[in-house]
Amino acid sequence: MRKKIVAGNWKMNKNHSDAIELITRIVDSSCNDSVQLVVIPPSIYISEIEEIASESDVTVGAQNSSQYESGAYTGELSAAMIKSIGAKYVLVGHSERREYFNEQNGVLAEKVNQLLKNDLTPIFCCGEVLEEREKENHFNLIEEQLNEGLFHLDETQILNCVIAYEPVWAIGTGVTASSGQAQEMHQFIRSLLINKYGENIANAISILYGGSCKPSNAKELFANPDVDGGLIGGASLNAVDFIAIANSF
Ligand code: PEP
Repeated sequence: MRKKIVAGNWKMNKNHSDAIELITRIVDSSCNDSVQLVVIPPSIYISEIEEIASESDVTVGAQNSSQYESGAYTGELSAAMIKSIGAKYVLVGHSERREYFNEQNGVLAEKVNQLLKNDLTPIFCCGEVLEEREKENHFNLIEEQLNEGLFHLDETQILNCVIAYEPVWAIGTGVTASSGQAQEMHQFIRSLLINKYGENIANAISILYGGSCKPSNAKELFANPDVDGGLIGGASLNAVDFIAIANSF
């Protein structure tokens, strides 16, 4: 049975006291215990949030990490540093990193390697912009992102990864992929995993959907056989909405 995961990407939001209030509310809420809840705050808050979350089953992640191991890389955070303050998951290749920080698949592959070396779980994000979907190039593009960023891993390594499909046109726009569009792409990703790693491994890897997922649409999205949870942006900034999404399984 693969893990069901609902992960909240807080992005560059919340000052310190708001962040503490949000995690406290999440930890105090009752949540479906078949779902792994992950909060992904700005990295400056990880230590403190991890301490609060450690009283519960909530785990903590980071939004980014360096492709380098250590040294003269001003402003960067290494995988080892992130591991040492208690994070378990790290996002790789979120579309905002790809767009605003020009992160390409090759660098993302290096980040994945650093994370696995440090026993962290990458949540590898892939997704197409609207133009690619309109050209009907979205399947090719997702295949390319996975081939170049993730599928260099061996069987043991890939089992320690999570994939998030996030159509860029649905992120922060209020437009969600339909349940059918999500399942179609998740099934395609699963078929790529089967071709590369075989059925047993493919069936053990969680594939999350992200893009304007909210309490009103989570149930329908999560009902799909290949949708194993969600990567949630805007709605994860509100404890009630975030927990309602997790309770939609
Ligand atoms: C995201 O940024 O990963 C995301 C899915 O954002 P939102 O839920 O706000 O669309």
